[in-house]
Amino acid sequence: MADAKRPKTYSFHPEWEEDYFFVYSNSKPICLICKASMAIPKKGNLERHFKTVHKKYERDFPAKTELRSRKVRELKTQLAAQQSVFTRSNTKGKAATMASYRFSHVLAKHKKSFKDGEVVKEAFIEATDALFGEFKNKTEIVSTLKDMQLSRNTVTRRCEGMAEDV
Ligand SMILES: [Zn+2]
Repeated sequence: MADAKRPKTYSFHPEWEEDYFFVYSNSKPICLICKASMAIPKKGNLERHFKTVHKKYERDFPAKTELRSRKVRELKTQLAAQQSVFTRSNTKGKAATMASYRFSHVLAKHKKSFKDGEVVKEAFIEATDALFGEFKNKTEIVSTLKDMQLSRNTVTRRCEGMAEDV
């Protein structure tokens, strides 16, 4: 009887991947079909979502068939690809922010006018184009550089931020 009062914990069951097209990612069940995430891995919720929202899948990919297994695998691959693009662009953003801090720091150290930041960036992009011309991911390198915020206001803000840190 005492057990009934304890908060119930739910855990994701791997067979739900094929039963309801759900995977467990970042501690949440995610629907492979519409990418919706559920707050808790509760069988009833996943089942209801699948059977009401994705009736068509239930019909077109009958449970316990090779057809369904294949579809689930295909959707899982797609989801993984999407997630890795997301992580990559996130890392890229962080790198650009870090670079713009370093640029700002060098400018401040040499007491350069803040508007020099844009000139330096332009020179850097030009040089990169020449240096990495033969690299397969050159476009990615150049676009990362272009993402770098070095406008006058940003540089001023960054330097103020750094002064406060010191
Ligand atoms: Zn869904």
